[in-house]
Amino acid sequence: MKIQNLISINKQFGSPVYVYDANKIENQYNRLVTAFSKVKSLRIHYAAKALSNISILKFMKKLGSRLDTVSIEEVKIGLLAGFKPNNIIFTPNGVSIDEIEKVSKLGVQINIDNLSILEQFGRRNPITPVCIRINPHVNAGGNSNISVGHIDSKFGISIHQIPLLLRIIKNTQMNVNGIHMHTGSDILDIEVFLYASEILFENALNFKNLEFIDFGSGFKVPYKYGDIETNIEELGKKLSARFNEFCKKYGKNLDLAFEPGKFLVSEAGFFITTVNSVKQTTSTVFAQINSGFNHFIRPMFYNSYHEIKNISNPEGKKRFYSVVGYICETDTFANNREIEEISEGDLLVFKNAGAYCFTMSNNYNSRLKPPEVLWYNNKALLIREKEKFEDILNKQIELNF
Ligand SMILES: *Cc1c(COP(=O)(O)O)cnc(C)c1O
Repeated sequence: MKIQNLISINKQFGSPVYVYDANKIENQYNRLVTAFSKVKSLRIHYAAKALSNISILKFMKKLGSRLDTVSIEEVKIGLLAGFKPNNIIFTPNGVSIDEIEKVSKLGVQINIDNLSILEQFGRRNPITPVCIRINPHVNAGGNSNISVGHIDSKFGISIHQIPLLLRIIKNTQMNVNGIHMHTGSDILDIEVFLYASEILFENALNFKNLEFIDFGSGFKVPYKYGDIETNIEELGKKLSARFNEFCKKYGKNLDLAFEPGKFLVSEAGFFITTVNSVKQTTSTVFAQINSGFNHFIRPMFYNSYHEIKNISNPEGKKRFYSVVGYICETDTFANNREIEEISEGDLLVFKNAGAYCFTMSNNYNSRLKPPEVLWYNNKALLIREKEKFEDILNKQIELNF
């Protein structure tokens, strides 16, 4: 996005504010479609949890995307956004059988990742087709908090348990129409991903009624200049060829599915903040902004790197700063970072603020959540109002003593 547009959005809506560039989302979507154009039928299920604003979901639907959801609430937003139930996949972890059955009754594709739940569900709903989440135990993640394929992971049904899985399916006579893996976020190495895919192919032969194979997600996007990113084009070429080969062997053209979150929305997001004060201590120059980990938790939670640009002084000479928030707790966005010289009142913009940023925000310190703006066809469209003070008190019950 152009700096002047970010500045004008700040003028109109104030800061802090989240801005999403629809054009970038569309480009990423099209990149994925193009990379897998050799596959007969591709399903892209946008992972709603990355950025779940209903207008973003509607935009995804307009692009032709389907939806990946992890809670009944996300399913309901998806339905309100206009997705057909059978274009939504429900891939929860650790939710109750009750929630799974409720979602299933809405007509949504269920993905089960637990043998106990599978058996209970299959007993009660033998006709409903289900997808099964396999854990291939491939450690492909970039950060131990977000790699979900390893042996002690709580996600998926272990490949070592396939015999028990097959017995349950036989006993319940249930119908498995898809198999799935999601090895974790931040795949750095395509070969690792392809290796995990081979494990999925091998096991797919155990199921006779498949309609799709879902390869999850975990595409890495660049967070800073020179970062390695998943080479989607190369992955598309290699995996498509292998997938088409597999379909021949299987004797049927299956759909190839993905569930990208970060890949579609991370780079489209910008978080604009204002510098409240510049504070020097004996060793550090702090830039203190009008936000905190209540709005933007990834740096504190995952130690994630987000590029920061001073859009009020974009050509200024660079100096070292620690950028911190206003939360009464250690609240650091960047340590000893080179940023264009900062004055109080300047606007600092965080990049890669599309995925897992607003959706993880909260009201800690009784602060209001910021508004969200979609930059679409050269216009700034408000898609979430800034919270009001009344929202903080909403649902609180006041006792009188
Ligand atoms: C979170 C999640 C995704 C999206 O992962 P990204 O790294 O954001 O692409 C996909 N599938 C499932 C099952 C998930 O839980």
